[in-house]
Amino acid sequence: MKLTGFVCTRCARRQDAAGKCAQCGADDCVLDLAQRGVCELLTDMDDRRRDVHEARLRWVAVGIAMVLGAAVVVWARWLLILVPPIPFPFFLRVILLMSVLGVGLLTGAMKLWPARQRFGFARSDEPDPP
Ligand SMILES: [Zn+2]
Repeated sequence: MKLTGFVCTRCARRQDAAGKCAQCGADDCVLDLAQRGVCELLTDMDDRRRDVHEARLRWVAVGIAMVLGAAVVVWARWLLILVPPIPFPFFLRVILLMSVLGVGLLTGAMKLWPARQRFGFARSDEPDPP
């Protein structure tokens, strides 16, 4: 499907006319959707935003997992000695606990706060014809 019209890359508003953005007034950010590569550019911008968002959530999840893991080591050491019943050394159990907590927190956070797609309309699996 070929898109028509113009889009502002600053505020993501679509409009029919070129020139200044009708919403934010930016005059150097309005792109023609019919031009080659514009949809790929918008999709790349969305992907970059998603990567930054995911990296931010990952750091928060790792931090919380480390704090929770340290709290278990200090106050609930018996939990790590009982579970899992595999003969892992203690420090491996701590690392395993922190990893599971971190992955779980990151997965939950990505579901709770997904990255917002500003240019979802431009996303297409088929490349532009040459
Ligand atoms: Zn705008």
